[in-house]
Amino acid sequence: MTQAVDVKQEAAAILDRLGVERDAWTGGEMASSSPVTGEEIARLKVTSDTSAAIEAAHAAFLEWRLVPAPRRGELVRLLGEELRAAKADLGRLVSLEAGKITSEGLGEVQEMIDICDFAVGLSRQLYGLTIATERPGHRMMETWHPLGVVGIISAFNFPVAVWSWNAALALVCGNSIVWKPSEKTPLTALASQAILERAIARFGEAPKGLSTLLIGDRAVGEALVDHPKVALVSATGSTRMGREVGPRLAKRFARAILELGGNNGGIVCPSADLDMTLRAVAFGAMGTAGQRCTTLRRLFVHVDVYDQLVPRLKKAYESVSVGNPLETSALVGPLIDKAAFDGMQKALEAARAAGGVVTGGERVREAGKDEAFYVRPALVEMPEQAGPVLEETFAPILYVMRYSDFDEALRLHNAVAAGLSSSIFTLNMQEAERFLAADGSDCGIANVNIGTSGAEIGGAFGGEKETGGGRESGSDAWKAYMRRATNTVNYSKALPLAQGVSFDID
Ligand code: NAD
Repeated sequence: MTQAVDVKQEAAAILDRLGVERDAWTGGEMASSSPVTGEEIARLKVTSDTSAAIEAAHAAFLEWRLVPAPRRGELVRLLGEELRAAKADLGRLVSLEAGKITSEGLGEVQEMIDICDFAVGLSRQLYGLTIATERPGHRMMETWHPLGVVGIISAFNFPVAVWSWNAALALVCGNSIVWKPSEKTPLTALASQAILERAIARFGEAPKGLSTLLIGDRAVGEALVDHPKVALVSATGSTRMGREVGPRLAKRFARAILELGGNNGGIVCPSADLDMTLRAVAFGAMGTAGQRCTTLRRLFVHVDVYDQLVPRLKKAYESVSVGNPLETSALVGPLIDKAAFDGMQKALEAARAAGGVVTGGERVREAGKDEAFYVRPALVEMPEQAGPVLEETFAPILYVMRYSDFDEALRLHNAVAAGLSSSIFTLNMQEAERFLAADGSDCGIANVNIGTSGAEIGGAFGGEKETGGGRESGSDAWKAYMRRATNTVNYSKALPLAQGVSFDID
């Protein structure tokens, strides 16, 4: 591993190019470090008056909701254009601040562009229904209206894409947005906000306060969650966070989209195409250094193919290039910080104590970079699904287990608290369909012959059980960002009541 670039200098140059004021990221009280080297790269000012920002967002909402939706789509179209122009810089900043390998940093920005395109089309398709009514001379319909201020809380591992999923939809739906990014990745948030502000300037007539950034840790997030003028909070992060945020929102009857932790599983059946499975498992489990909510963490392999697949997988674990994510040769970049490394080592110890046999998992050091935490991904052969296998450890650990009975594999697959993503590898149609059926995978995402990670924006994204039940991004996820009204219009000269009720007062 070599350290060819000055991470701090490069981040500064990108922020300058993207038009982020130096004042926003120098001289403040909140340090931001790069996992690439472990060094501090910025000091940000924490937002002190969250309430003023939210009040301004509410005032902006009152105006923005009256702008026709296709016109609102024009702003998002401009955001997509600005993102295209800034893709190389923003992608690089994602790599510098979150440690993603270059292609994944750029891929994250591509996802932002894709959701903008989706939202532009959506801005002309916010359809309601007309519904048959039992009363003559009446018409019943559903209309969709803007909701209010949308709060967005995001995690470090998708520092900008998650914001864009929410922001693009919320804006075309007529809402204003207030974003509290992860305290581990605030620079990419400053950059994204600057890019949106450029789009707003070109758009010309957007109300002030339409999009605001709140910089800070969970206390700032709590202020956003508790503010009575925030109609919906879309919160992405750990299940621990969701346990705190969910009840707070429920207490004031605010809407919640909770996108929380995953403990994603895969089943490899006897008929699986093992070459394809190997590649899908390798990317799903080791990609993004195991720091995706959809990372593959548990693999059930049929006894008939176990000895063909698992030795090949182990070889991939032993040889995958771990290192500087800014160099194209690396496939696995650093963990976000020391706490992530410690959490991984603790889980591996627990796995060993439970009879697991570990390949990899050791720290990969580089002289002079003691604060950066690179690690070789770990494959752990487990005698059974127990101990640390039941929980999400946000690091590259893949637990592999044998199975011989399909129903038992499916039962074990579903026997964890989280329910985000899942995969089956099979060429047997009955197994594939069963996995997708009502008594199959209990996750929000269920795939056949592709891995658990790398979802496209066109589908609704989210998971069940302790993953929180939220849906965002594509399909009809937009409905969560709008207020639905059922309207009944009487164009007759009588007043028939529903259900045959009579109430004549002559
Ligand atoms: P985290 O829970 O530590 O933090 C996420 C965000 O929540 C941060 O912005 C943080 O400041 C904020 N926060 C924490 N406690 C809060 C509180 N009480 N009130 C308000 N805000 C609070 O998560 P992380 O370490 O940044 O990210 C990793 C986790 O996120 C993993 O569990 C991963 O699976 C999950 N994740 C889920 C999805 C998904 O779509 N389901 C996507 C990405 C990450």
